[in-house]
Amino acid sequence: MCPVIVNPNWAGKPYFPISQVYKERFGSKVVKIPVSIAENCPNRAGIKGMQTCIFCDEHGSFAYPESQGAAIREQIVSHREKIAERFNASRFLVYFQAYTTTFTQLARLKEGFEVALSFPDVAGVVVGTRPDTLSEAVVQYWREMSRQTFVGIELGVQSFDDEQLQWMRRGHNAAAAIKGIDRVAAAGLDVGVHLIFGWPTETDKQIVETAMLINSLPVTNVKLHNLHVLTGTPLEQLYREGLFQPIELEKYASRVALFLEHLSPAIAVHRLAALSSRWQELVAPAWTRHKMKSYQAIIDYLNSRGTFQGRAYSAPRQIVPVDAGLLEV
Ligand code: SF4
Repeated sequence: MCPVIVNPNWAGKPYFPISQVYKERFGSKVVKIPVSIAENCPNRAGIKGMQTCIFCDEHGSFAYPESQGAAIREQIVSHREKIAERFNASRFLVYFQAYTTTFTQLARLKEGFEVALSFPDVAGVVVGTRPDTLSEAVVQYWREMSRQTFVGIELGVQSFDDEQLQWMRRGHNAAAAIKGIDRVAAAGLDVGVHLIFGWPTETDKQIVETAMLINSLPVTNVKLHNLHVLTGTPLEQLYREGLFQPIELEKYASRVALFLEHLSPAIAVHRLAALSSRWQELVAPAWTRHKMKSYQAIIDYLNSRGTFQGRAYSAPRQIVPVDAGLLEV
């Protein structure tokens, strides 16, 4: 078998890890401290008749629900202690994670940024939000802030397929997601995209097309999740009624491999699968419970096939006008 050639900067991993980007940008290991500033989102608030996303738990995807409602300073101090010990880190990015961060007053968000950046060991901020909840004022504020510090924006896109977006009751379509990505990038900000694999109508072709679409967009990083069932979610009801079945680990690993093969090697990857940090909330699949085991299974799948991020990637062709005709470059 031919040796697998992966980028030597990826520390032996068959994909470009975000930790590498942070290390190069900040000069040392940097990890994220999740905090919650928003208390709701457009879906849960029923804006324009929207409903809770089918997969979302009551905590709006927050890693530390016990801290919800606490002051940002308090959250940073408490979560930093746990994260520093767990990851052996001494520099951090404060990650505004729960619900829809931009579904809150701008003044509150500004205050949250100020508190976060007042910690000497905080190297910047990251905001998780929806691609369709971005006021001009918030984008301009981020733009100003990015002149002083690192500001990363992670957009919950989940899928670029309108049928899937409708099934998950997301409340926006793919065009709105692309518009949001373009707007944030046009302001000079670093844009990440969250994706979920394992939708009922998902096909390999669609996975490849998603990677190719991302390659053509101003996206610098992606975060991958498998669709899992949590207690109290609308998806749990479908699962109990036999109307939804999560994909098995091997199938999921094959989807991740296919996606990574077609993804540009210049786009960094946060994580390869969802993590169920609250075991008691996980209904299915059971493999999501074992973070390291699932991660290793995906890595083994890639390695056993001698494949890696970007193996099947070819740069998107640009069409440029040349005199009377068009030229592909
Ligand atoms: S995933 Fe985000 S937008 Fe959807 S219901 Fe949960 S918090 Fe709201």
